[in-house]
Amino acid sequence: MTNHLDPQQYTLNRSVSCCGVGLHSGHTVNLTINPAPANSGLCFFRIDLPGQPAIPAHMDQVSDTRLATTIGTGEARVSTTEHLMAALRSYGIDNAHIEVDAPEIPIMDGSAGPFMLLLKRAGRTPQKSCRKVLRITKEIRYTDGTSEIKISPYNGFKVSGEIDFDDTLIKKQRYSIDLSGDSFIKEIARARTFGYVEQVEELWANGLALGGNLDNVIAIHWNRQTILNEDGLRFHDEFIRHKVLDLIGDLALIGCPILGRVSASRCGHTQHLAFMKEIAAHPECWELIELKGNGHHSVLKQMVSHTRSAAGGMILPLLNPQGCGKTLSQTPC
Ligand SMILES: [Zn+2]
Repeated sequence: MTNHLDPQQYTLNRSVSCCGVGLHSGHTVNLTINPAPANSGLCFFRIDLPGQPAIPAHMDQVSDTRLATTIGTGEARVSTTEHLMAALRSYGIDNAHIEVDAPEIPIMDGSAGPFMLLLKRAGRTPQKSCRKVLRITKEIRYTDGTSEIKISPYNGFKVSGEIDFDDTLIKKQRYSIDLSGDSFIKEIARARTFGYVEQVEELWANGLALGGNLDNVIAIHWNRQTILNEDGLRFHDEFIRHKVLDLIGDLALIGCPILGRVSASRCGHTQHLAFMKEIAAHPECWELIELKGNGHHSVLKQMVSHTRSAAGGMILPLLNPQGCGKTLSQTPC
């Protein structure tokens, strides 16, 4: 279905909408995803606020990573972006305007499955601009206590995750996926978020996760051996698959597809953000390339435009979708 090495940028064929409950507020949230011009990137708009402020889906906009990933500040923020971002990146959407009328993306069923169905319903269309891709050329590693993430060169996008929980249900799980074709929708998209029942109860006591219920979260029993959801798990290792989903969604905030092999152990949103900053701080380990041509088989020979910044080389100004509605200069493929 999708390929990181497609040379052209893509947007949606048409606008699509859905509504669902906000995980934290418990209120109904309306979401509309619209096509957007080439080079404008993925950008959220809070259409319930005066002036409908734009919040670019970019790592330098992240303001909170405690329970989910939140981008934007003050009133103009949007939370729980990761599942939708994973769906957009995995479906190969480079440019979209995402309208939401609340400070959070609807949780739907706790996975990216409903967003993938929504995007497939819209379809995608190529645009007359080349896609920029972040190609890893040397390993970058980030550690934080027992958490570790690293990325190394790879001619594709491969994501591996590992968790190690002190219980008899999850225990140690590993999952690895090469994101090409339909692999994301088949193996990852439907994996749901999860939590221990006592954690959910504590969140409720603090006025959070008010929209959380057994329709949108896997609730792990107090005994830590079973789950409360009567229909059971969608995959025997649904937990690590969901962690991989979160990682894909957070890494989408880099602002473009990545060519590399990512491996994360015992990580969450906070480590994902710190890792992206680590990548940005090491421009000697990556290059931003512009894909040219019509096929992907000889893409390495087609990498004609190395756009790594010479001065300082921070990735942020290179990939920040400053446009958010404005059409930036377009390079025909
Ligand atoms: Zn998640």
